[in-house]
Amino acid sequence: MTETTIEKRFYTHPCFHQEACGSWGRIHLPVAPNCNIQCNFCNRLYDCANANRPGVTRHIYTPQEAVSMLQRLLYQRSDISVAGIAGPGDPLCEPDRTLETLRAIHAQYPRLLLCVSTNGLNLPACADALADAGVTHVTVTVNAIQPQIGRHIYAFVKTDSQLYKGTKAAQLLCARQNEGIIKLKRRGIIVKINTVVIPGVNDKHISDIARQAAIWQADILNCLALIPVHDTVFAHIPAPTASQMTGIRKEAARYLPQMTHCCRCRADAVGRLHSTGT
Ligand code: SF4
Ligand code: SF4
Repeated sequence: MTETTIEKRFYTHPCFHQEACGSWGRIHLPVAPNCNIQCNFCNRLYDCANANRPGVTRHIYTPQEAVSMLQRLLYQRSDISVAGIAGPGDPLCEPDRTLETLRAIHAQYPRLLLCVSTNGLNLPACADALADAGVTHVTVTVNAIQPQIGRHIYAFVKTDSQLYKGTKAAQLLCARQNEGIIKLKRRGIIVKINTVVIPGVNDKHISDIARQAAIWQADILNCLALIPVHDTVFAHIPAPTASQMTGIRKEAARYLPQMTHCCRCRADAVGRLHSTGT
């Protein structure tokens, strides 16, 4: 991370700084129900009480409800350093809901770190608004930088009332991610790249992504093992093993720092991180 972007409070983000995990936690505010793409590992059935994985939540909150929830939490505990929006859909699919939430939080709690996760499709259009709303950290999920690989990962991409499939869809997403990440870094935002490792699809492509992430000046790479979810195109693909993930991260670490403590949290997760998997 560049020295110019780092303030002391930034070191309290438990996802970007593992040493903060023992002392600091986060809250995910599930205000973003819809998504503008379809990944072949996601079934979009987010209403789930028990599943412990990204993209699930008990409820969807309005921006006002989300801010009230945060107020109650901050009244009860003093170890929350980050408010994040991570779904259960894409937070930039309907940017108004996300930006309204972020602006309201930033007005009341200007020292709280603000974090957003996105697939990047609407990032070029939203990067400046995110920075102006006080967002300090953004995660972009980049599963491929080559459309020939991406076309196997995304069933479709929807933008400006148009639906794209195949290579065209992947080309569009890759181009938007590239443009959006460059804009974020220009605005001094700390950027994490998430990459879902899908055996037989992109597992030989991860160091290419890591190399590109370093060129983007992303700050950290988080390689996540595929979670085979029922009713998805990739339901039959076994998750990569822990030793495969170790090898992949070791190779990717030649290019930029690796996150190894991700808990693959729900879209309504609250508190400190509790690591669960590879
Ligand atoms: Fe699911 Fe996220 Fe992919 Fe949308 S971007 S389909 S919410 S995994
Ligand atoms: Fe942090 Fe990973 Fe949980 Fe996101 S999913 S809040 S990066 S630990």
